[in-house]
Amino acid sequence: MVQSNIRNIESDVDFENKIRPQELESFHGQDKIVDNLRVFIKAALMRGESLDHVLFHGPPGLGKTTLANIVANEMGTTLKVTSGPVLDKPGDLAGLLTNLSEGDVLFIDEIHRLSPIVEEYLYSAMEDYKIDIVLDKGPSARSIQIELAPFTLIGATTRSGLLTSPLRARFGITCHLEYYDTSVLSGIVKRSAHILGIDIDDQAAHEVALRSRGTPRIANSLLRRVRDFAMVMGDGKVDLAITRHALGALNIDSRGLDQMDNKILLAIIEKFGGGPVGLNTIATAVSEEAGTIEEVYEPFLIKEGFLKRTPRGREATELAYSHLGLQKNPESGVLF
Ligand code: ADP
Repeated sequence: MVQSNIRNIESDVDFENKIRPQELESFHGQDKIVDNLRVFIKAALMRGESLDHVLFHGPPGLGKTTLANIVANEMGTTLKVTSGPVLDKPGDLAGLLTNLSEGDVLFIDEIHRLSPIVEEYLYSAMEDYKIDIVLDKGPSARSIQIELAPFTLIGATTRSGLLTSPLRARFGITCHLEYYDTSVLSGIVKRSAHILGIDIDDQAAHEVALRSRGTPRIANSLLRRVRDFAMVMGDGKVDLAITRHALGALNIDSRGLDQMDNKILLAIIEKFGGGPVGLNTIATAVSEEAGTIEEVYEPFLIKEGFLKRTPRGREATELAYSHLGLQKNPESGVLF
């Protein structure tokens, strides 16, 4: 009995399917986006039309794919999923588009990674529900126009800065997902625990949420790991003590920062006296793209009060120093 409890035979896909919210009602947080989507979906249903094209942008793990699923569910249609790097020829996209039925939702993840030629092909599909297909090669080549069923394109991107403006302009609805507050995330942890039959108390759920970098995907995966510790080391109940022990054993930062977050803060403090320092300089120091730092890492560090954006560049705050166990020296910026 105990053995079969301990073995974790649940695959990632099963796990995802179980806990992914299926309707707007069970999607916690991102209140503005949810409220707006509710109106747009209702209006489209009242008019008997497909929903306007939607762009979700924001850091990974915040619910872009989940929302695309929910939109298709709420519209009562089917979701077809693909991603930017997979579609390398216009023919790949044409195949998908011509197979869509009226009102279907086509979800393109990482849409910023579409090749320019595929992207151009998408323009007329999005605007007029038409595509031109070239038949034959050489002198006998001719193009025919194919009418598509009205569909909704949902694009998701972590790097909206990389989207071209013609593509961006073709989305009628644009939503920016923000990092979640600890209280909302704690609600998500409790919901997932309930679905998975995990007995977790409020303090433990709060601790998991606090250390999840404002990200539901991380919170759900930490919950799974904490459950393992609770089963093996205790009676399966997840309380604050076992949670702290598990997260400590997994080397999870006390405020949920990941390696790159800490690297950025440390670089600003140790190499540039705490700042202010320009984004490109930080990017070079930590070997990461400036755009990724700006769109993925920095928003969380600013939201949590570790980093300040000033007209002269980025500055580490007192909180960043104390989090890293450093003290600020008025002359050099750092003192161990
Ligand atoms: P993204 O597409 O932005 O990378 P996903 O939609 O795949 O993120 O979400 C990652 C995980 O987090 C999924 O398991 C999903 O169920 C969960 N999740 C995301 N947002 C929420 C939310 N608001 N409420 C509950 N669970 C969420």
